[in-house]
Amino acid sequence: MSRVLVLGGGFAGVEAAIYLRKQKIEVTLVSDRDYFYIYPTSIWIPTGETTKEDISVPLDKLAMKHGFQLIVDPVTKLDAKSKRVTLENGRVLEGYAYIVVALGQDKIQHKGMEHTLSICGKPEEATALYEKLDALILKDHGKIAMGFGGNPKDSSAVRGGPAFELLFNVHNYLKKKGVRDNFELTFFAPMPKPGQKMGEKALVMMDSMFEKLNIHKKVGSKITAFVKDGIEFEDKSKIASDLTMFISAGTGHGILRESGLPLSDAGFIVTNEYNEIEGFEGIYAVGDSASLLGPEWRAKQGHVAEVMAKNVA
Ligand SMILES: Cc1cc2nc3c(=O)[nH]c(=O)nc-3n(C[C@H](O)[C@H](O)[C@H](O)COP(=O)(O)OP(=O)(O)OC[C@H]3O[C@@H](n4cnc5c(N)ncnc54)[C@H](O)[C@@H]3O)c2cc1C
Repeated sequence: MSRVLVLGGGFAGVEAAIYLRKQKIEVTLVSDRDYFYIYPTSIWIPTGETTKEDISVPLDKLAMKHGFQLIVDPVTKLDAKSKRVTLENGRVLEGYAYIVVALGQDKIQHKGMEHTLSICGKPEEATALYEKLDALILKDHGKIAMGFGGNPKDSSAVRGGPAFELLFNVHNYLKKKGVRDNFELTFFAPMPKPGQKMGEKALVMMDSMFEKLNIHKKVGSKITAFVKDGIEFEDKSKIASDLTMFISAGTGHGILRESGLPLSDAGFIVTNEYNEIEGFEGIYAVGDSASLLGPEWRAKQGHVAEVMAKNVA
């Protein structure tokens, strides 16, 4: 029977493992954390409508239910040619006919990022956003800035939607608490037309929403640094901020750099339309690890994992 090693326990890895198990294929999944985190619902954590625990599913429960093997230990090395995977504790995994790379992505690092929190970063950051927002509400006033960055090498690696969603959530939350007028809310992004991929009409609607909700906007200038009390821009302007939420654009996962796999300029694994990697038989890349050029539906990570799993099966 074919044995498949899945690297990563996010949407892509878990979907791949479940689908492969349905085909009665033996699967081992490796994850650096012991839970599957439902990222899209995390936008409700900072406003206290849900918690990290509510939107996390223990991987051992999923493993038991679907019958895959689970190893919780970070992957530290992937040698694609020999299909050898090394884990942090020194264990080497080899002899798998197939490897599915579903490690997600890293984020571009900017100067002073330690002064920001991201809703798309480590799950703990969403909880930290909740705590910081609550502390500001207790003080009864404050300045909050939320935005996202670009990746000149791959526009599809930009994640802007959650910044807009969270900003509107926070606006409503402050209103409900009766303190909205004491807070300054600002949206920022370095590109001149952030959210452009939603279409020109959406940009006009967004602007009128900002105006209606009294949300300031700062766009079109490169971010030079995040500092303790705000954000500095190339045009020498500065946004004052007590709480900065910043979603940095994605870049390829660090493990991939030494893997020998073909990578795009932005560091994502180059695949064909079957999620195969040319020249590396039996290795597939899915979800945010892959550079899925072309298909309109490329953001549908679960679907992409399913396409890949069908091909393996
Ligand atoms: C707030 C928010 C809203 C979103 N809304 C949408 C939406 O509406 N629609 C949509 O399509 N997408 C949305 N996304 C994006 C979507 O969540 C991601 O594209 C998706 O999570 C990617 O899945 P993935 O499995 O490829 O990567 P990830 O979810 O990042 O999973 C990667 C997994 O690999 C593990 N891992 C990383 N490094 C290692 C290592 N060295 N060793 C072992 N394991 C490792 C991680 O712990 C993680 O579990 C949203 C994201 C956020 C944050």
